[in-house]
Amino acid sequence: MDSEFAIIDSLFRRTALHHPDTTLGIGDDASIHRLGENREIVVSTDVSVAGVHWPDDVPLDVAADRAVCAALSDLAAMGAEAAWAWIGVQATDAAAISAMAKGIDAAMRRFRVELAGGDTARSPVNALNVCVSGSLPRGSAMRRDGARDRDEVWLCGRTGFAAMGLRQWQKGGRAGEFVDAFLHVHPRLDVGVRLRQIGLRCCIDVSDGLLQDAGHIAHASGLCLQLDSSALPGVPALAEASGPEKALDDALHGGEDYALLCTAPVTLNAKLVPLAQRIGSCTASESAGVWLDGQPVTSFKGYDHFASAG
Ligand code: ADP
Ligand code: MG
Repeated sequence: MDSEFAIIDSLFRRTALHHPDTTLGIGDDASIHRLGENREIVVSTDVSVAGVHWPDDVPLDVAADRAVCAALSDLAAMGAEAAWAWIGVQATDAAAISAMAKGIDAAMRRFRVELAGGDTARSPVNALNVCVSGSLPRGSAMRRDGARDRDEVWLCGRTGFAAMGLRQWQKGGRAGEFVDAFLHVHPRLDVGVRLRQIGLRCCIDVSDGLLQDAGHIAHASGLCLQLDSSALPGVPALAEASGPEKALDDALHGGEDYALLCTAPVTLNAKLVPLAQRIGSCTASESAGVWLDGQPVTSFKGYDHFASAG
């Protein structure tokens, strides 16, 4: 079967109708729609399924909180101010609904987002479909196609911790900073708004793996992202726990840390230093792609729901 991204492209993106008020449709962290003269509304939806997005033995309130936060991270990537959520809850029984409601409520309160609707159904598997929305000034969204030649590449947050935490959880680990990073997602909403206000035009949240998500920026913007592995924050801490090789692998390919990967002209360096780590630069090129330590990246290994399906 084709990769997840090829499936989305051929089955959904190419056939989608285009509404005249849509600024940006399928293909970015969220879609953008005109809202009056001066603002735009930003919308994203994310499915989370027990046994796929979280191990079955993660408590359901924690899983639901995590699912909401993962969805909110897409708004952070656009630089939107989060406002509303609509959540479809699929639950195996009444206890599962209660537990998921508790996690949803906790996340909504933490980020001051209104639960504006949803749907509830009995299902053979616990799952959530989280639709989130927010708004921003017209034309100011940070997009995957906004990187420019000679921009520098910055990372807000670190990568690899959630992948390490998931492995520890699967081996019975129940505490520590890596398990915490996997269980508790922190959508960088405030940072996203700040990056947009500083004037950044390009950002993505790292949900599938740093190199894979860097590839999305490279292809959408039509240039090369040159990354420097020695600049990746978090690798020293990962290396202490699992050795240097595994640490780098997790930092480059591990998903679900929801760091923000962005690009910016050098004129913005001073404003970015307190918020992010510089990990590379962008260069114009005939063929878009990602380079790591001077070598082209050909294997992404990021998470793909359909890569190995029959
Ligand atoms: P993210 O990881 O940022 O949530 P995804 O990798 O899940 O983004 O999706 C990539 C793009 O494809 C997004 O713009 C998303 O809205 C779109 N997409 C994914 N699945 C579907 C679908 N079933 N119908 C329409 N668009 C989809
Ligand atoms: Mg995203």
